[in-house]
Amino acid sequence: MSEQTPSFLKAKKSLGQNFLHDNNIIHKIILAAGIRPDATVIEVGPGQGALTTKIAEKHPAQLILIEKDTRFIELLRQKLGEAAHIIHDDALRVEAHKLGQAPRQIVSNLPYNVGTQLLFNWLPHIKHFTSLTLMFQKEVAERIVAKPRTSAYGRLSVMCQWVAKCRKVMDVPPTAFKPQPKIWSTVVQLTPLDMQPAVPFEIMGKVVKTAFSSRRKMIKKNLQSLLSVEQIEACGISPTARAEELSVEEFAALARNYAEA
Ligand code: SAM
Repeated sequence: MSEQTPSFLKAKKSLGQNFLHDNNIIHKIILAAGIRPDATVIEVGPGQGALTTKIAEKHPAQLILIEKDTRFIELLRQKLGEAAHIIHDDALRVEAHKLGQAPRQIVSNLPYNVGTQLLFNWLPHIKHFTSLTLMFQKEVAERIVAKPRTSAYGRLSVMCQWVAKCRKVMDVPPTAFKPQPKIWSTVVQLTPLDMQPAVPFEIMGKVVKTAFSSRRKMIKKNLQSLLSVEQIEACGISPTARAEELSVEEFAALARNYAEA
């Protein structure tokens, strides 16, 4: 594996390119990811391979890279050779849960502009993954792990925590990247819950999105097109509560009621 780095490649803002160059942070991400020798490891946006070469050193059963920027494809081939399978595509179009064999692990310093959308694509299929170790902008990571009755708690928190144990791994300062972003980043890890919910993801998604459609309004108002006051009460929930006061379990009860009605 060559260590050659293409200093001539300019970062593209449109592709959320902030390249990690802090070896200590890279080491901690790899450690947190807990790469298994029997796993298919999927990395979205390998870029110039800062994380990739360290993942490869752990010799997972398979390493699959999804990169949109044409400029990095040949470079990654040179650096990794047979150690990785490279998919040159937009990760939003790739069904990551169908790649390789289980157990599957995703490890990625996600491009900021599509990070949340990618996570929403993966959540309905999360049982096909063993773990997702992902770097987001700090504000997004805070929403993923947020608890009820906080300003960060919302649709992203509920949908993630409904299907996965979500933990913050560490905050990462702008100085860890080139070029330096203006904001801090945070690594989070999602591990699918053993018991995956019976209610379809789209139903839960619809109820949660509608409940949070106006944060200041009572849920009976926001949810009036989906659930009656009686249905909300039948779930043991006060219709005058606000969405941010409801636990993930309470949202699941509302979604069950809506699905069964
Ligand atoms: N992993 C590298 C690192 O940590 O230094 C680069 C991370 S950089 C934040 C995001 C990477 O995702 C870039 O390489 C960028 O080209 C790639 N990327 C951006 N949008 C993408 C998309 N929709 N699908 C696949 N890769 C994408």
